[in-house]
Amino acid sequence: MRASRFFISTLKEAPSDAEIVSHKLMMRAGMIKRLGSGIYTYMPMGLRVIRKVENIIREEMNRAGAVELLMPVVQPAELWQETGRWDKMGPELMRVKDRHGRDYAIQPTSEEVITDVVRTEIKSYRQLPINFYHIQTKFRDERRPRFGLMRGREFTMKDAYSFDRDVEGMQKSYKIMYDAYVAIFNRFGLQFRAVAADNGAIGGSGSHEFHVIADTGEDALVYSPESDYAANMEAAEAVALTPTRGAATQPLVKTPTPGKAKCEHVAELLGLPLAQTVKSIVLAVDKEGAETEIWLLLLRGDHELNEVKVNKVPGLSTFRFATESEIMEFFGTKPGYLGPIGTKKPIKVVADRTVANMNDFVCGANEEDFHYTGANWGRDLPDPVVADLRNVVAGDPSPDGKGALSIQRGIEVGHVFQLGTRYSEDMKATYLDETGKPQLMQMGCYGIGVTRILGAAIEQNFDEKGIIWPASIAPFEVVLCPMGYDRSEAVKAETDKLYDALLAAGVDVVLDDRGERPGAMFADWELIGVPHRVVIGDRGLKDGKLEYQGRRDTAATAVPVAEMTAFVK
Ligand code: ATP
Ligand code: MG
Ligand code: MG
Ligand code: MG
Repeated sequence: MRASRFFISTLKEAPSDAEIVSHKLMMRAGMIKRLGSGIYTYMPMGLRVIRKVENIIREEMNRAGAVELLMPVVQPAELWQETGRWDKMGPELMRVKDRHGRDYAIQPTSEEVITDVVRTEIKSYRQLPINFYHIQTKFRDERRPRFGLMRGREFTMKDAYSFDRDVEGMQKSYKIMYDAYVAIFNRFGLQFRAVAADNGAIGGSGSHEFHVIADTGEDALVYSPESDYAANMEAAEAVALTPTRGAATQPLVKTPTPGKAKCEHVAELLGLPLAQTVKSIVLAVDKEGAETEIWLLLLRGDHELNEVKVNKVPGLSTFRFATESEIMEFFGTKPGYLGPIGTKKPIKVVADRTVANMNDFVCGANEEDFHYTGANWGRDLPDPVVADLRNVVAGDPSPDGKGALSIQRGIEVGHVFQLGTRYSEDMKATYLDETGKPQLMQMGCYGIGVTRILGAAIEQNFDEKGIIWPASIAPFEVVLCPMGYDRSEAVKAETDKLYDALLAAGVDVVLDDRGERPGAMFADWELIGVPHRVVIGDRGLKDGKLEYQGRRDTAATAVPVAEMTAFVK
């Protein structure tokens, strides 16, 4: 590529709405251009990085046996209604109507469409397993779009979906994808960590997130340096729920109770669109004298805590002063932790200030289809200690008994799930087994945030001059900076020769023939983050040498002209 024929647009200052370094640097390097909140044009320089990220993902997905297709961005509401997600997804799901007034979703992900493909295309056990993927535009109407490509509303995701005959098969497909992700993130040249994760609203069992390690990451990762224990904070806290943390004054009792039913019941009672916006519900009892008050603590998607005192909630006035046995009778369980819908979740909000101040607090927690009761975290403990109970902190013993836990911050760039029959059941995706009997397919899904990778890579690799791309995803691998391309014939001749040689060797090289002054030229490429720079000047050429400088190097190295191609390759 010749810079004069490409589009380069750098800025000295980042726009004031850019908060974190990756956002600032991508704006300054002219990689993205804001169109609206969370919506960006990928400018030529940024798109080159995106394409490299996509190509690595594509190669590794193909190698792992996944098959590429391309599903529509705009998807009929009917499919989303079949799985209930039309209602459950809430405002994050972008909806549009066509001229006939029919509803459509702009895909935030594609479980419904792929399950529809598979239920009509796959008939027999002989066609399984199969894993389809696409790299496609997504839209999520995020409550707080921010940090540039890191949390956009429109973004690119690679999402893959595996279908198997049985659970064992699904677990095998999951492992293949997990390994492919390790290969992908290694090729990106990024420091990352895979952690056990909660399944969240998607349902099913078994899930890992892949995080790029960065201090600015939104997520806390908990791991033991002495073993392979690693979990995101939510999953780690779910484990810490067990009474081994020494807070419970009595053993936990585990009773079979379907959490989903409980949550839905509460939502219905409250007449609130809980299924849409609320991840978890905590019921707490506050015994003031002889009276017992019920509190509902609604933990929303973003860990924002909302307290709703029951007597302020319409339709629940009859339970204003419910006794414990009334609650037992009504909800079929002791007051305690009820959510999130259908999944295991820590008692995150239990130690919230409000609750910790209650005189006598009884709580429980959900594991899928089980409910723990009998824990009493608050009793006899001073507030600060109570406040600490829900947190996993550095130095805590690792749940596997090996070593002490460390905590670091990460950016979620990938997520793999075992979904089981969550979608195949609702959408009746079956195949005929060897005996000709229909069986539900076992499904897995696997996402990578393609555009988020750019932000994450920069958060991990930058300095005061700009971005430092790992070579595998850099917009260009090598930049040639001639000193006087228009003035010196020797410089022009050597530069052109080297440029051709590098291209022939398959190196992604850019020749800066814009005629900028050296200082401005160097500053641009350091900001853009090209990992290798070669300076061609008359002075060096007199000794038959060129100057090489790696983006992280503090000084240049003189390299003989004839050796440069091999040197940067
Ligand atoms: P987050 O916790 O950051 O909101 P998520 O858990 O909702 O992400 P998934 O549904 O697991 O996201 O989607 C798979 C991947 O898509 C994520 O691991 C992430 O890399 C990427 N992704 C999700 N939301 C966004 C977004 N708003 N902008 C850019 N990438 C995103
Ligand atoms: Mg999200
Ligand atoms: Mg997440
Ligand atoms: Mg996720």
